[in-house]
Amino acid sequence: MKLQSYILVIFLILFFLPVPKPFAQNFTPFNKDYNKSDSKMIVRVYLTSFSQMDELKKEGVEIVSEEGTKWVDVSLNNQQLEALRKKGFRADILVTQEELRGLKFLIDPQYHTYEELTLELDSLAQLYPAIAKKESLGVSTQEQRTIWGFKISKDVNQDKDKPRVLFDGVHHACEVMGLELCLHLIKDLLDGYGSNPQITSWVDGTEIWFIPLLNPDGHSAVTNGISLYWRKNGRDIDGDNILYEYQCNDWWTCYTEGVNLNRNYDFNWSSGGSPNPWHYDYRGSAPFSESETQAIRDLALKYKFSLSITFHSYGEVVIYPWYWSGTPAPDDLSLTDIAYNLSSRMTKEIGDPYNFQLGSALSGMNTNWFYGALGDFAYTVEVLPYPQFIPPGNQIDSVYQKVKPGMLYLLERVNAPSLTGIITDSVTSELLKAEVRILELYSTQVLPRTSDSLFGRYRWLLLPGNYTLQILKDGYYTETISGLNVGSGSPTVKDASLVKFKTGDANLDRTLSVSDVVFIINYLFKGGPAPSPLYIADANCDTKVSVSDAVHLINYLFKGGPPPSC
Ligand SMILES: [Zn+2]
Repeated sequence: MKLQSYILVIFLILFFLPVPKPFAQNFTPFNKDYNKSDSKMIVRVYLTSFSQMDELKKEGVEIVSEEGTKWVDVSLNNQQLEALRKKGFRADILVTQEELRGLKFLIDPQYHTYEELTLELDSLAQLYPAIAKKESLGVSTQEQRTIWGFKISKDVNQDKDKPRVLFDGVHHACEVMGLELCLHLIKDLLDGYGSNPQITSWVDGTEIWFIPLLNPDGHSAVTNGISLYWRKNGRDIDGDNILYEYQCNDWWTCYTEGVNLNRNYDFNWSSGGSPNPWHYDYRGSAPFSESETQAIRDLALKYKFSLSITFHSYGEVVIYPWYWSGTPAPDDLSLTDIAYNLSSRMTKEIGDPYNFQLGSALSGMNTNWFYGALGDFAYTVEVLPYPQFIPPGNQIDSVYQKVKPGMLYLLERVNAPSLTGIITDSVTSELLKAEVRILELYSTQVLPRTSDSLFGRYRWLLLPGNYTLQILKDGYYTETISGLNVGSGSPTVKDASLVKFKTGDANLDRTLSVSDVVFIINYLFKGGPAPSPLYIADANCDTKVSVSDAVHLINYLFKGGPPPSC
């Protein structure tokens, strides 16, 4: 064909391509007090104490971002702004609804669609088969799009006992920059392997995981032109088979269908988000109700990442665990140290380093579950200045260059000061999944931390210092190892082998002797402390502790009777 014919064909294809339309028919507005003519704006309200958050909520303003504790962004009208200022709040206008309407544009084609991302990950995995693989982590809730994980490491097709990090993007559909940042880093690591010694050593020694696009359904609403402000996933809330219904589409606080994936994690889930299904902060009907959060959860449970970044927009700030009614996180010192290092390596558009601040523990956010349930030091990185979600595509690379040193810091830090080791059975050498405590940092605020089930490996990022390690497992004696010195360089290694309980060893001194008999008698008849666990004193294995266990022990110790054993 001649050039003109090509142009004609392309023109015809473009002309007849279906133009995606918003599906707004049959939609009864859920929030009756919403009034479009009542023009709103996004305002940053600064908090000087945590109680001010409650005061603010009483004012009836919509809270747009409550991740932070130093300030919150709220959506309100002029009257409400005046009222807040009269009450003494410092409130700066970030953007008005009129300004946002003026910004409307179709998404720049430089941003990847789901299909383009899929093809790109495919070709990268084919190009670098020894160090890269693409893996399905599950499918999206509504439209069953495959959620892609991408792993970079030496011997990529095997699970290796290496420290692991995770980067994810696009929990919130319109925060598309996270996808691009993940993809840029993927390419830099693959390109640099073998030629850049630093990258080569990271890829050799670390398992680096990416989920560039956690929310492909919501993202499709953005790339298909349904709404540039779509936030949630694609769940058909009212079950009418009309997808992506919205009340308005020019404001990220608009009421829409879907679940806010970053309120759907199972850690203080019921304390955060909104129970209102149309609300932009809707947390879902139950923790992990959405298959997107299930996909990332299952990956994290299996691989136990040490460090992770979840990308959002906007704010140019690093938010980390946590503020919980005045009680800092048990790992506050090292969490803060890493937050400082991360933020100081990332550069804002105006040239300053990123800010960093604590996030609230009281919400089912990704970082709260990753840290609180797994002990992964998880950081929310809000890229882009206010109030940007989707800057022109030619800015993607410059945003990446400004954020990249922070991303690389994860790879550096995960191989630096920490305590790590493998836990085994002292007799069989079987790898054990056991609870690991560092007594100086112990707190019931977080769930018990365990070694992983793949390698019996625990890893704990720490500041240099002296620590006491304790390892606990049902049926085994607790091991306590004190005076462990963590230096400023590479990880300190402390393996541990656990010894199984000896039945009858009521006082837990690891030998059977007359003192165990005395311990049982004291417990039964003189109000002495109970054996812990009780079953260890059950010498005759009759499922209760009684005087017959003391007799069994005496028979064994002095009269050649059978040993206690269950
Ligand atoms: Zn977000």
